[in-house]
Amino acid sequence: MRDCRMLIGGEWREAASGATFESINPFTGKAWARVPRAAAEDVDHAVRAARVAFMSPAWRGLNATQRGKLLTKLGDLVARDADALAELETRDNGKLINEMRAQLRYMPEWFRYFGGLADKIEGRVIPIDRPGMFNYTLEEPLGVVAAITPWNSPLMLGAWKLAPALAAGNTFVWKPSEYTSVSALEFGKLIEEAGIPPGVVNIVTGYGHEIGEALVGHELVAKVAFTGGDATGAAVYQTAARGIKPVTLELGGKSANIVFADADFDNAVKGVVSGIFAATGQTCVAGSRALVQRPIYEKFLEAFVAFAKTARMGDPLDTATQVGPITTEPQYRKVLDYIGIAKQEGARCVLGGGPAKRSECGAGLFVEPTVFADVTPSMRIAQEEVFGPVLAVIPFEDEEEAIRIANGSIYGLAAGVWTKDIARCLKMAGRLEAGTIWINTYRVSSYLSPFGGYKRSGFGRESGLLAIREYLQEKSVWIDASGETPNPFVTR
Ligand code: NAD
Repeated sequence: MRDCRMLIGGEWREAASGATFESINPFTGKAWARVPRAAAEDVDHAVRAARVAFMSPAWRGLNATQRGKLLTKLGDLVARDADALAELETRDNGKLINEMRAQLRYMPEWFRYFGGLADKIEGRVIPIDRPGMFNYTLEEPLGVVAAITPWNSPLMLGAWKLAPALAAGNTFVWKPSEYTSVSALEFGKLIEEAGIPPGVVNIVTGYGHEIGEALVGHELVAKVAFTGGDATGAAVYQTAARGIKPVTLELGGKSANIVFADADFDNAVKGVVSGIFAATGQTCVAGSRALVQRPIYEKFLEAFVAFAKTARMGDPLDTATQVGPITTEPQYRKVLDYIGIAKQEGARCVLGGGPAKRSECGAGLFVEPTVFADVTPSMRIAQEEVFGPVLAVIPFEDEEEAIRIANGSIYGLAAGVWTKDIARCLKMAGRLEAGTIWINTYRVSSYLSPFGGYKRSGFGRESGLLAIREYLQEKSVWIDASGETPNPFVTR
């Protein structure tokens, strides 16, 4: 058993109460780490430490270039330890080691990009319309940022918030998911090694329903950056509203992956398979609705099922494994519930449709890659986020119908389009209501390009140049350079 501590004010601490909880390896089903179970008191310590750090000369006294260099250094340390961190994540969340390694090896770019951006944050001089007046703006940090993240990409989703927040000069309190706290705590050691002053980054571990509100609602938290489910996001938004705090919400999705008859058939099959079965469907951008044009509908289903059948399940630490376990017990039950609902609704199950009882699955919580055909847009399996390896396939006639079905969702995180027609590419990109549109590809992302939701998938953007704005506030400074203060009883 690995014993973990939280990082608060530069110290490695247990919860004040001494309480802990266990982290379970989803493949073995066994506890492998013991993690502090924070309460409101610990959250208060962490937020106060972050506020003290925010006001301290050790952090405030750094110029933007120095701040940026610390982030660049942190990126280099993550690069050095990427494979070790990836292994911790796979033990914690059961995602494939190949995927976690790729994520962790790429993650330093966020620190390098935002580290480089730190000293390019500039104010403006306004050509003001008052004689003798000089008006300019300052771009300032907000203060203490509270970040809350889910279990599916634990470090990556933290990094997407941490890098711009620190580049802008804020300090940070991070609560990772209770299912995947270990890599965040290990990452905390790199924060120290990079020379980031104590208290600038604090990591508290615990259950969302126990400490989430204490963190979001804390009077010294100035901004909340949340990634998770939309129901939790709504609760976080309400708590933040009571304190009039800015929030960014990266929430769930029910993304449509649309295949036109003119698409490169083999590429489309691969793209739809990876859209839903990569990460065992446990990804916010999962292409969980495949919309397939009628002339190729049956042929596509046949090829898709044949290809999906070849997926190797098993130990996520084995590089040959292609589909891993479901991360948590509640999530496992939820996925199986949705499979039951789809069957009851009359969708045609053409692949999988239940727990995976293969010998290579060990004690893990595995679900067979599952495909439902002849789904209608109003079925729950076509409307609600499953967050597992379950695909709903819906036929369509033409562009207009595809757009209507794709947009007929409360969510708007991403959409995929497969076609060779350039005019159609442009039309679909313009009319689909989603924060990311992938054409003849799926599930790519970069530190350079904005990511975020439309509709109930949330608001605010992570990555890309403008993401830094989520962590800044603009101050307008007026200077009367005329030397003559006017008579206050005469309106100007
Ligand atoms: P979740 O909403 O259950 O939990 C997310 C985080 O919120 C966890 O750290 C949890 O402890 C915390 N939390 C729970 N209750 C809280 C409360 N009352 N106040 C404050 N925090 C609270 O989500 P999950 O099951 O961990 O993750 C899956 C969800 O995350 C899916 O809906 C998925 O689509 C979404 N997600 C979105 C993105 C994105 O970028 N849009 C990325 C990954 C995952």
